[in-house]
Amino acid sequence: MAKVIILGSSNAIPDERHENSHMALVNDERLVLVDCVSNPIVRLRQAGLDIENITDLILTHFHPDHVSGVPLLLMDLWLLGRQQELRVYGLDYTLDRLETLMDLYGWDTWPRFFRVEMIRLAEKEMTLVQETDQWRILSSPVSHIIPNIGLRIEFTDSKKVFAYSCDTEPCSQVVQLANNADVLLHESAGSSWGHSNASQAGQTAKEASAKSLYLIHYPNGKFKDNNILTKAKEAFGGPVRLAEDFMEFEF
Ligand SMILES: [Zn+2]
Repeated sequence: MAKVIILGSSNAIPDERHENSHMALVNDERLVLVDCVSNPIVRLRQAGLDIENITDLILTHFHPDHVSGVPLLLMDLWLLGRQQELRVYGLDYTLDRLETLMDLYGWDTWPRFFRVEMIRLAEKEMTLVQETDQWRILSSPVSHIIPNIGLRIEFTDSKKVFAYSCDTEPCSQVVQLANNADVLLHESAGSSWGHSNASQAGQTAKEASAKSLYLIHYPNGKFKDNNILTKAKEAFGGPVRLAEDFMEFEF
């Protein structure tokens, strides 16, 4: 059974119950992290996942609320004695900066550090990220402040589709990624540059003919808006829920 596990649902300002947005894609053979923040080893353990089983890491874009946990993830895997290579997927913009960051941490001086294979994704629509017996993962550039990707995961056995907008203004690429998706996980950070509000998320779900909409990357704390579900429902017409930390989707 393939699963998507939400590891964090907040926008860039987290609180006690909402970590920055990131998630795990799990099947019998793979544990794929989509973005990596905070203390990855702790977060994964809380979700019932073992950091040592990570096979792949997809990085959507190089903002701290999406990639701040990567140096610690790599260091902890190294200290745990990992030998298996780790595949890291992202756009050139993202992976160039990750390499610079890791150079600052002196990763070339870490003895017997495992191999990290950087897989550079084309910045074009419906790029194949990974294909296995159990799923196909596709990416498209979305409309954010810096280069960023959204994702579409097509599950082989269940024939279900999960789409993730990541951080973006409304754009045709997300509509395409979410075309007829069973679940569209869409950001709702608000009406600021490079982001969408809840009613725009609902509008995108409608245009894509998605079957359900889950809002993620929403504000908490003093910027919390209690009306985002209502606004998204008005625009979409279909089922809408808030994504929460540790929520699981089975496919
Ligand atoms: Zn961002």
